[in-house]
Amino acid sequence: MGNTYSISRVGSFDKCRLQYKYRYIDKNPLRVETIEAFMGTKVHETLNEFYDFIKNKIVKPKDWLLSRYEEIWKKDFSDSIKIVKKELSAKGYHQKGKESLAEYYDEYKPFDQTKIVKTEESIYFNLKKNKEEHRFVGILDRIDWNDKAKIFEIHDYKTSGSLMTQEEADHDYQLPLYQLALMSQWPEAVKTKLVWHFLLFNKQIESSRTQKQLEEVQELIIEKIKAIEACQEFPPFKSALCDWCDFQEICPLWKHIKKVEILEESKYRKDSGVKLVAAYSELEEKKKQLKEKIFEIEQEQDKIAEAAIEFAERENIQVIDGPDKQLVVTLKEELTAPTRRDDQDKWEGLRESLIESDKYIEVSTVNSSMLNRMMKSWPQELVAKIKDFLVKKVIRKVDLRKKN
Ligand code: SF4
Repeated sequence: MGNTYSISRVGSFDKCRLQYKYRYIDKNPLRVETIEAFMGTKVHETLNEFYDFIKNKIVKPKDWLLSRYEEIWKKDFSDSIKIVKKELSAKGYHQKGKESLAEYYDEYKPFDQTKIVKTEESIYFNLKKNKEEHRFVGILDRIDWNDKAKIFEIHDYKTSGSLMTQEEADHDYQLPLYQLALMSQWPEAVKTKLVWHFLLFNKQIESSRTQKQLEEVQELIIEKIKAIEACQEFPPFKSALCDWCDFQEICPLWKHIKKVEILEESKYRKDSGVKLVAAYSELEEKKKQLKEKIFEIEQEQDKIAEAAIEFAERENIQVIDGPDKQLVVTLKEELTAPTRRDDQDKWEGLRESLIESDKYIEVSTVNSSMLNRMMKSWPQELVAKIKDFLVKKVIRKVDLRKKN
């Protein structure tokens, strides 16, 4: 059996293939813990301990819950924890976690709604389709048995700053996968309540899945795993999530930015990369000024050209003599193809007429940038087929851009 997959592993591939490679192929140990992740872990740990007592019929008071959170936070907190959103402090995050635990306690006391089966449980199971099997592991925050409804409940604690919508909950695949894991231990878990606790909002969101939907989730994840295993290229994908990525310091999109952002101004200016960008940017500015000048000159030339054409028409001539050069005046009509942007109807009409008369192929060309863009959404088999006809060209260019 090959790799063992998890929600975070599949999610990492969806987010950024390079991040996936760093973490799961290269097994890069570099870890940057963010304050959001730290706060989430501490809240989880506190609730797990609290529910371990409940499992043994002991309901600890609210003060215990909050002071235990304080102890766990203090024991593990260090200044190396990264604060991504500069407008928030570690103290602010600590307070948010504490308040959400206090609200949670008030919401669910006396904690007798269900019976606690397991807390923080790693379950290994196999995703199966035909003869294929893929090993999967899920870490379930809490499994409850609802003795009144006679069903299992899977509870997941979330400390994210955004609240999931009901539609997102109904299409999420994390908890349904955990339900499949649960079914591998208790087949009657085919009926299970899926519960998300969005702790910062003191809000519970629920959903459930039919057996057919669970099969669809299983198929979807198997397809994702197949895509991961067939993947040969792992490009970086820049997104808002980069700020929370463990690998910014080695990622080619961020490595230099991270290296120089901590330098003081004088050292920053002396960095070889910074000097290259400054020199390139200065020349770009000069080019811009020259282009503006060229534009002015061209406008001036256009006026002269118009006067020359009128002169030629008036004098019935095609060549105008000058001191060193001559102006050749051409007046003729030529057919050009409309662009899609200028006239959509004409563009479509022309295209359809050519296609109908089998002449389209004679005047059409394959545009590389469009081909590269479209290939991303084409089926893998087609891409593999046409790749043999494509010429691999190494692009070596730089583009100047503004800093974010
Ligand atoms: S920093 Fe962004 S682009 Fe780079 S590996 Fe991480 S997620 Fe991908």
